[in-house]
Amino acid sequence: METLLENFISYFMVACVAAIIIVWYVRRNSLKTKRTILQIEAAKKLGIHEPVSLHPVIDTNTCIGSGACITACPEKDILGMVNGQAHVINAARCVGHGACFHACPVQAITLCIGTEKRGVEIPHVSREFETNIPGLYVAGELGGMGLIKNAVEQGKQAVTFFLRKMNTKIETNYDLIIVGAGPAGISASLTAAKNKLKFLTIEQDTLGGTVYNFPRKKIVMTSPMDLPLYGQLKLKETSKPELLEIWKGVLQRNRISINENERVEEIGKVNNIFIVKSSKRTCTSKGVILAIGRRGTPRKLGVPGEEKEKVAYRMIEPELINDKKVLVVGGGDAAIETALLLAETNRNEVTISYRGENFSRLKPKNLENITEASANKKIRVLFNSNVKEILDDRIILYINGAGELVELENDSVYILVGGTLPTEFLQKVGVTITKKFGEAILKHGN
Ligand SMILES: Cc1cc2nc3c(=O)[nH]c(=O)nc-3n(C[C@H](O)[C@H](O)[C@H](O)COP(=O)(O)OP(=O)(O)OC[C@H]3O[C@@H](n4cnc5c(N)ncnc54)[C@H](O)[C@@H]3O)c2cc1C
Repeated sequence: METLLENFISYFMVACVAAIIIVWYVRRNSLKTKRTILQIEAAKKLGIHEPVSLHPVIDTNTCIGSGACITACPEKDILGMVNGQAHVINAARCVGHGACFHACPVQAITLCIGTEKRGVEIPHVSREFETNIPGLYVAGELGGMGLIKNAVEQGKQAVTFFLRKMNTKIETNYDLIIVGAGPAGISASLTAAKNKLKFLTIEQDTLGGTVYNFPRKKIVMTSPMDLPLYGQLKLKETSKPELLEIWKGVLQRNRISINENERVEEIGKVNNIFIVKSSKRTCTSKGVILAIGRRGTPRKLGVPGEEKEKVAYRMIEPELINDKKVLVVGGGDAAIETALLLAETNRNEVTISYRGENFSRLKPKNLENITEASANKKIRVLFNSNVKEILDDRIILYINGAGELVELENDSVYILVGGTLPTEFLQKVGVTITKKFGEAILKHGN
């Protein structure tokens, strides 16, 4: 009798512990689910739930809810758990690391580009990265595949393929012109130098491409790669300054100069010779590599003083901007988010100049925040205004349509008035573009 009672107590205790674990597990799952659903709703409102480029697609028939993908993803809140399975939250913020793809223990993740509803335009290229225009190659993210390592690899390969076909008989200023100096353009330049080509690299902005625009403190995730004229770059986690130093160092040691702040505007081809027109020169070459990424080119205002150092077309590190009188030009989400960030940090005096009568195309949250900041006089908003001239310590604006002029003290100007997409540039050059509607770029079994 006593043994029976003892057994009963033991079983009861085990059952209680099991029940506590189950209740805890179910509660934890339901909390996670609730949190992810809220995050998805917020992402939908902000317009960042839909992917714009590469993103993970989860096969819910295969996903076992290990959460390995969420742990592996180096960016924040891209993936979350709903009812014990992984779901995408902020697909537009995915940069295509592919860490989730590799981490999934049951291979339930595929990396895709575009969706059924929203296609992504990418240039049509051969296996040798050549476009429909012979001698014109595409390398890096422009071709649809993100990540530094891939860009470096493609930059190298594009030059190698060009070399196999190069017509040495024709006379040109350069053998090869490389457009863009992000990871793909840098790697292409190093490969061209290694192969003793006569080449020119033109960059509209600053060496480093998208990486140059990362915040200083961002952890850059990458995998070991072979950098031409450098050797194995055994990095997994690094920082923007470290990566830029490595690139600058190898370029300097090999006396390779990159023509920064010069934009390629037109590329034509006559009698097998490329004619490349930039903002500074016109020159000819036997081949061209487009390593221009997918960020596009910021639109300029075309006003006197725009070339001054205090003028920028993006904001990288708001925390470094203190006690400044700042003008943000533009009325889109990028301009508003920049103005809000600058007003939040370190006693900056922020004014927005927008040519429209009101903010009409903003994400709801941005509209709410800017309306509040304007009402609380944290940000001054000048609708119906246009920049007339940028001076060293002041700025002159047309206000109320065009009639009146106003002069403001000013330390820096951020011009965020949109830009041209790389596809527009490709179309102008005559490159065939295809739209990808959810095509798998990285798939298990490939
Ligand atoms: C927020 C964010 C975080 C990321 N984090 C990581 C990470 O941790 N690890 C990782 O591996 N990848 C990361 N990526 C992705 C990575 O940055 C890109 O895949 C990579 O930079 C692509 O290299 P690219 O050379 O093809 O293009 P880009 O780096 O975009 O360079 C293209 C260059 O071409 C120039 N250009 C464009 N048009 C012209 C023109 N007409 N004339 C002259 N120059 C022109 C541009 O100014 C630019 O400098 C991240 C991306 C983002 C947005």
